[in-house]
Amino acid sequence: MSKQLYALGELPPLGEVPEKMNAWLIRPERFGKPTEAFQKEVVNTPSIADDEVLVYVMAAGINYNNVWAGLGIPVNVIAARNKAGEPEDFHIGGSDASGIVYAVGKDVTNVKVGDEVVVHCGTYSRNCEWVKKGGDPMYSPTYKIWGYETNFGSFAQFTRVQGQQCMPKPKHMNWEEAAAYTLVAATAWRMLHGWGASSIKKGDVALIWGGAGGLGSMAIQIAKAVDATSVAMVSGEDKFDYCMKLGAKGCINRNDFDHWGMLPHWKDNAGYAKWLKGVRSFGAKIWEVLGEKRAPNIVFEHPGESTIPTSIFVCETGGMVVVCAGTSGYNATVDLRYLWMRQKRLQGSHFANTVQCNEMNELALRGQLDPCLSRAFTYEELPLAHQLMHDNKHPHGNMSVLIGATGFGLGASGKPAVTMVHPTLPKGDVHTTPHPYPMSEPLPSIEEAQALTIADDGSKVRDLMHMGIISCTPDDTIGTVAKIMVEKEIHAVVVMDGQGKAIGVVSQTDMVLARQGRTPDQARAMLASQVMTPGCATCDADMLLSDAVSLMTGRRMHRLVVTEKEQPVGVISMTDVVRKIIGE
Ligand code: NAP
Repeated sequence: MSKQLYALGELPPLGEVPEKMNAWLIRPERFGKPTEAFQKEVVNTPSIADDEVLVYVMAAGINYNNVWAGLGIPVNVIAARNKAGEPEDFHIGGSDASGIVYAVGKDVTNVKVGDEVVVHCGTYSRNCEWVKKGGDPMYSPTYKIWGYETNFGSFAQFTRVQGQQCMPKPKHMNWEEAAAYTLVAATAWRMLHGWGASSIKKGDVALIWGGAGGLGSMAIQIAKAVDATSVAMVSGEDKFDYCMKLGAKGCINRNDFDHWGMLPHWKDNAGYAKWLKGVRSFGAKIWEVLGEKRAPNIVFEHPGESTIPTSIFVCETGGMVVVCAGTSGYNATVDLRYLWMRQKRLQGSHFANTVQCNEMNELALRGQLDPCLSRAFTYEELPLAHQLMHDNKHPHGNMSVLIGATGFGLGASGKPAVTMVHPTLPKGDVHTTPHPYPMSEPLPSIEEAQALTIADDGSKVRDLMHMGIISCTPDDTIGTVAKIMVEKEIHAVVVMDGQGKAIGVVSQTDMVLARQGRTPDQARAMLASQVMTPGCATCDADMLLSDAVSLMTGRRMHRLVVTEKEQPVGVISMTDVVRKIIGE
C-alpha cells in the first residue's frame, strides 16, 4: 500500500484501497441545519463483506433524506444503527452515486474491479428467509435505504454497497449526470411498471403530479418509452415547455384550481357540490389537454393529502392511483364510493427492487432517460446543496455533487443510441412548496411495543364533565332541536329512544350540515334521526381524560356522553378540555 490517504481528486491506482478516506460526516453533537451538520473529516475506509463492493465515488446525488439525517429528525439515524449493533458514532449519507469499482467481495458476480457503475439505494439481507424464497426484497423486513438507513453512503471517497446495488453507468453521461437519476427514476419505474395488470402500457393516459420535479420528470420519460400519453401537473406555466420536451402531451397549472385539500364531509351538500364543481372542471381540463374525453388510467401520486381526492376522482374506472409519498400531508381522504363503484386501485409504492432498478437503467443506457440534472455542486459545496434544499431554495429537477471527479462534465465516453433533448428549467426556478419528509418513514410496528414517554396528570373524565343529559327524541324536528340548543346554550343534544337508550347525537355540525344546500324550511322539517350521528360514543366517568380526548379526536367528535354503570349521566366536551388548559 503506497499511501494511507489520497487527496480528493487524486485517483488511487485501480484496486488499491487506502486505509483512510475523506468524507462529509454528520455527528449527533452537531445535528442541525446542513451547513453545520455536515463537516469534512478523515475516517477509516470501510471493509466489505462477501456480497459487498467498494466503489470509488466520482459524484453523488443529493436528496432530502440527508437533510433530515443532518437535522436528526424524525429519526436519529446514528442512534438507530448503534442500537442495532453498528459501532460508528457518525453518519455518511448519500443515496445516489456514480463511480468506479475498487474492490469486490468473493460472492459478487455482477461487477469487477474497474467497472464504471451507478448505484441504486435498495439494500436487504441476502439471508432474509423471504428473499431466499424468491419474495420481492422490497417487502423484506431487512430492507434499508443505503446512505440514509445505512452508513457509508456516497458522500465520501469510497462507499460500501451490496453487489446487487451496482448497475452499469451510461457511457454517454458524465459523472454528475450519472449520479443524479437512479433514486428517482427507479422509484418512478416501480410506480408505473410494478403493479401487474394495473401497470402502464402503450396507449394509456398517465396524470403525473410534479412533472418538473425529480420523480415527475422521470415518470414522463418512462411513460413516453411505452408510448403512453402523459399529462403533467406543475405550479406554473413557465414549466410547461420543460415537461413537454421530456415527453408530456400537455400540462396543467395546478394554481388555476382551488379545490385542493381534504374532501368536504359527504353530508355537506353545499361544500361537496362546490368541490365537485372544482374537480369536474379539473377533469375537463385534462380532456382539453388530451383533445379527447379520456380519464387517466394511471395517476402518479406523491403530493398526498391535498391531491389524493382529486386523483381518485379523475382516475379511469378500473384504473390505479399509485402513491409513494405524502408531501403535503398523510391524512388523505377518500370518497369510498368512487373507489368501490368504479373499482379503482389506490396502490402504495416504495423505491424499487433490483430487477426494477436494472430495467429502469436499461432505459438510461439506451439514452431514453435524461437525468434532468438541474444543478451540480463541487465537493466543498455539499452542505450548501443541502442547505438550499433545507431552505426550499433549490431548483426543480435533480442535483448532484462532485466527489472524486476533478471537474464538471468529465466521465462521458460515448454517445447515446438516441439523441437526447436535455430540456432546461426556467432560469431562477426554485421550489414553492414545503420540502417533504424522508422517503423512509419510521412506522410504529406491532412487534415493537415500546412504551412512549408521555406526560399525563391523571385527570379523570368525572373531574371535568357536566352532569345531566339534554336529550330529544328521534322524531323531534331540527327546528325543535335548534330551539333546545339555543335556549340551553349547548352544542349538542343526545337522541334517546323510547327505552331511554342513547342512540345518537345531534351536534351543531350536524345541524349546519343539514342546512347546507337546503332551504330553511326544508332543514327545519328534517328529523333528529335523519341528521344525528348515530351510535352515541360514550365513555365511563372514570376514564382517563387523555383517553377520552383520543376517543374524540379519533372519531372527529367534540363530545362524548358520560356513563356510570352503563347509564348516561352527563357529557364531556372539547370545550371542557380547553377550559382546563386555561385553569392550569
Ligand atoms: P421534488 O423534486 O421536490 O418534486 C415534487 C413536486 O411536487 C414539487 O416540485 C411540486 O411541483 C409538486 N408538489 C409539491 N407540493 C404539491 C402539492 N401540494 N400539490 C401538488 N403538487 C405538489 O420531489 P421528488 O423528488 O419528485 O419527490 C416527491 C416526493 O416523493 C417527496 O415527498 C419525496 O420524499 C418522495 N419520494 C419517495 C420515494 C419512495 O421511494 N417512497 C422516492 C423518491 C421520492 P410543482 O410546484 O411544479 O407542482
